[in-house]
Amino acid sequence: MLDKTVKELGDALQRKEFSSVELTRAFLDRSKTLNNEVNAFITFDEEQTLAQAKKADKILSTDNATALTGIPIAHKDIWCAKNWITTCGSRMLENFRSPYDAHIIKRFNEYGAVTLGKTNMDEFAMGSSNETSWFGNVKNPWDLNRVPGGSSGGSAAAVSAGMAPASTGTDTGGSIRQPAALCGISGLKPTYGLVSRYGMIAFASSLDQGGPMAKSAEDLAILLEAMVSFDAKDSTSLEKPTVNYSGGINRSMNGLRIGIPKEYFSDQTAPDVQKGVAEALKEYEKMGATLVDISLPTSPLSVAAYYVIAPAEASSNLSRFDGVRYGYRAPKYSDLNDMYAKTRAQGFGAEVKRRILIGTYVLSHGYYDAYYLKAQKVRRLISQDFAHAFKTCDVIMSPTTPSTAFQIGEKASDPVQMYLSDTFTIAANLAGLPAMSIPCGLDQNQLPIGLQLIGNYFDEAQMIAAAHQYQCVTDWHLKKPPLYGV
Ligand code: GLN
Repeated sequence: MLDKTVKELGDALQRKEFSSVELTRAFLDRSKTLNNEVNAFITFDEEQTLAQAKKADKILSTDNATALTGIPIAHKDIWCAKNWITTCGSRMLENFRSPYDAHIIKRFNEYGAVTLGKTNMDEFAMGSSNETSWFGNVKNPWDLNRVPGGSSGGSAAAVSAGMAPASTGTDTGGSIRQPAALCGISGLKPTYGLVSRYGMIAFASSLDQGGPMAKSAEDLAILLEAMVSFDAKDSTSLEKPTVNYSGGINRSMNGLRIGIPKEYFSDQTAPDVQKGVAEALKEYEKMGATLVDISLPTSPLSVAAYYVIAPAEASSNLSRFDGVRYGYRAPKYSDLNDMYAKTRAQGFGAEVKRRILIGTYVLSHGYYDAYYLKAQKVRRLISQDFAHAFKTCDVIMSPTTPSTAFQIGEKASDPVQMYLSDTFTIAANLAGLPAMSIPCGLDQNQLPIGLQLIGNYFDEAQMIAAAHQYQCVTDWHLKKPPLYGV
């Protein structure tokens, strides 16, 4: 039962093949054992988890069950969940127990899903390798010497290693898609505003977006249906008619126009990744899709613009961690200012401090126009590139990452190299577009390769259908890491 997709588990639960308590127990046992190696989870809370499973079993014996009732789901530890320790991967929140549920957690609870545990992540979601977590780095189930990607690395590794059937993540510059690619799973970042950010610990509010991570595109559709809902508590939440994503996955690919951005296909990308993506595109052509050459001329500037805008917003968002209201407070200090300084010096890690410094700098008088305003202009141009491109195509495809999973420590001392691993994912965040990653091959080291799909605004359904159709004719998403047999 640990092998099954969310869809299969939901069907089996409704047929009473096993109970939610049995299923949840099995995932808890496997997760707890494997966690010693993978470190995908920060927190388990068996009592709360099993209580939810028991409740789900009761619902399963009525007519009120949903596709998610009784399914254990691992949540990235950036989401506040009532009575759960919620750390955001930081020492600052090591002992913070949330008094309330994030909007999406509330939704999953209403759907009868079970919170399996809270997953490890880069500190405050800042990173591409999960090496910045206060709780130690996560290891890639395909090769324990390699990174799982970041910042939702725990959520990706958990699904990849069969520790959870599905998980949630957040994506500010690629943090769902990049780890999904590196761990060989499927992950989706919705259109900005579709999933409420209420209760997601803020990193860069104009870019942050939550989304699902799972074994298949079909599962992503099921999870997305629970996650998408208007929320008055998030001022950027959008009120949209409900879409039945899972009901719309059987679209024909005949005539689908796939945009191939020339800027995303260069020699900078590892040859095996180029090959994997090229073969995936051939599959689409076989299914009747046509490839259209497009250009996103401003996209080479996306990493630079992002590393001005995201730190600017982060420096403001993170000012709330001052030792007064909640979280860590330095044990010894001389006065109020010293308390602030020592708390933040001790509570935050190096990458978070680097972002706060950059952000404060680009927002300061005299630099605002030179950096922040300019980055915002670039952001606008990037959105316009996409608007132009979508006149001639229905969905855009590219590699998700320039390389497969890299070695732990390989880029840790070179932030710019680390930042460049998001070179293909960031533009979708700057434009607010939906995007996803699905597995499309293995490289010569048997490491997963990710195919990125970028859709037009609110066109998740098209993108998910395209991903699903690919998964109907290929089996890359079914490949399992060596650790799976353990
Ligand atoms: N890797 C990027 C960063 O460090 C993106 C992170 C994210 O999407 N949360 O900012």
